Amino acid sequence: MRIPHVTSLSAVNGPELCCVVFFAYCNFKCRYCYNKDLVFPKEEEKALSIEEVYNKLEGCKKLVDYVTLTGGEPLLNDEKELSSFLRKLKELKFKIKLDTNGSSPDKLQILFDKKLVDFVSLDIKTDPTRYFLLTQKEGVVDLILSTLTLLKKSDVEFEVRIPLIPGFVDKKMLNFWIPHLKNVDRVSFNKFIAGRCLDSKFNAVTPLVESEVHTLKTYFEEKTR
Ligand code: SF4
Repeated sequence: MRIPHVTSLSAVNGPELCCVVFFAYCNFKCRYCYNKDLVFPKEEEKALSIEEVYNKLEGCKKLVDYVTLTGGEPLLNDEKELSSFLRKLKELKFKIKLDTNGSSPDKLQILFDKKLVDFVSLDIKTDPTRYFLLTQKEGVVDLILSTLTLLKKSDVEFEVRIPLIPGFVDKKMLNFWIPHLKNVDRVSFNKFIAGRCLDSKFNAVTPLVESEVHTLKTYFEEKTR
């Protein structure tokens, strides 16, 4: 488990004010990703020791109830190591939010069985025909569908986030996901931010304008009603 840093206070990473634990490494290499330092951490850069992480989180406990695990992809870590980390956070009386790209439903099921997660954010990025083009990872859509099914069956709160990547999120993409998202209460569309993208070509991509975003959101709402 490699944790480069912990942020003591964030108003945007959790269902409420939270502190954030950033995990290194990801099995996706999303071309628009702006967490290059986490996806490709430099070996010479120091990561926090587990004691340093616990100390920082203990300091946060006075301020927040939630810890958000993000990255990178937190579920890439060894399940036993991750479970023991989460158990310690539970001893510190934190609620736990997990951000995931959805590619590890089996590990998520184990964490659910152990009651170690309170909230999940699942990212859905495009439709099956373009997932590889965007994430550079083959064969993940069935895993993401399994994660979504697991979330819908569980009693753990969750949200689905759709980053608005031009050329990858459009009506065709929504048409694939709409049947799967019909009874999902929380679906948000997140802004694409150019500037620090993993693939520098994406830094030249113009984000969708407000009217395009409005059209997609309205289409989605009408079809999932
Ligand atoms: S956007 Fe998320 S899933 Fe994609 S490479 Fe970055 S950290 Fe991984």
